[in-house]
Amino acid sequence: GRLAALPPRARVSFLSALTGSFSTPAGENPTVAMIEAAYRHHGIDARYLNCEVAPAALGDAVRGARAMGWLGFNCSIPHKVAVIEHLDGLGDSAAVIGAVNCVVLRDDRLIGENTDGQGFLAALRTVADPAGRSFLLLGAGGAARAIAVEAGLAGAARITVVNRDRARGAELVALLNARTPASAELVVWDGFQRVPDETDIVVNATSVGLFPDVDARLELDVDGLREGTVVADVIPNPPRTRLIRDAEARGATVLDGLGMLVQQGVISIRHWTGVDADPAVMRRALAAIFSA
Ligand code: NDP
Repeated sequence: GRLAALPPRARVSFLSALTGSFSTPAGENPTVAMIEAAYRHHGIDARYLNCEVAPAALGDAVRGARAMGWLGFNCSIPHKVAVIEHLDGLGDSAAVIGAVNCVVLRDDRLIGENTDGQGFLAALRTVADPAGRSFLLLGAGGAARAIAVEAGLAGAARITVVNRDRARGAELVALLNARTPASAELVVWDGFQRVPDETDIVVNATSVGLFPDVDARLELDVDGLREGTVVADVIPNPPRTRLIRDAEARGATVLDGLGMLVQQGVISIRHWTGVDADPAVMRRALAAIFSA
């Protein structure tokens, strides 16, 4: 892996390193635009191919990537759990989360990582340190699970999970209490919720606000937000969700879902090539798509 594995230009001029994404449906995934913008900007001779891969073909796709010497690939819906049986090992947090969205070829072994929560934490760290903080986490699906596990492993003191479905919320809370040092509790979401006074960081990890239902409103009372509370949204499209706008109007420090997506790209490129890509270049490539 890493840059050393890229073809030495002087000897092999026409062989690009390969990376990409396996998912279905694949056509609406904008990651390719952001990653290839970074490759171009940094002069990395690599390609990122967005591949439509049906569930029954996932094993063949992984074997194909291995046969062709891909540096690695992203996995998206519906392959994040199913891909694990085709891999040789898992990164620490991916093992706890139980899902993989970034596979890396390391010493001829395919290792599964999860960048969802790591991307979120990298974006969060631009404004706040998660250690010792109290989180209010809305949602308990795949994104929430990844964010909560990484926050717990990064030293979050308290994680209050708010979710409509009790079973799904309870499963996440049990996982956090068992596998991370954080203290987690469940609030079942049945009607408007207020933000507890001790909250430092509010995270919307539900799908509420995602295009096309852009005016959808979370049942969350933002009136009581303390000034300086961090309010983060996972929704990348549109980046300025109703939550972000409401929180900003109340003096909160806001983080949009584009930042998390961009940081995931930065982490993937680092895994595959060893290069620290410029997030500003990647954000511009995505913002151009989402505002179009
Ligand atoms: P899941 O389907 O796994 O989970 C969805 C979650 O949203 C569940 O907890 C569900 O609650 C909750 N939810 C849905 N509708 C409502 C509602 N009306 N009110 C309250 N809660 C609701 O989805 P993912 O976790 O995979 O994805 C969630 C969002 O995260 C998506 O919009 C996706 O675009 C975004 N995302 C962004 C990333 C980024 O890099 N910016 C990366 C990954 C995801 P319940 O369990 O009660 O049904």
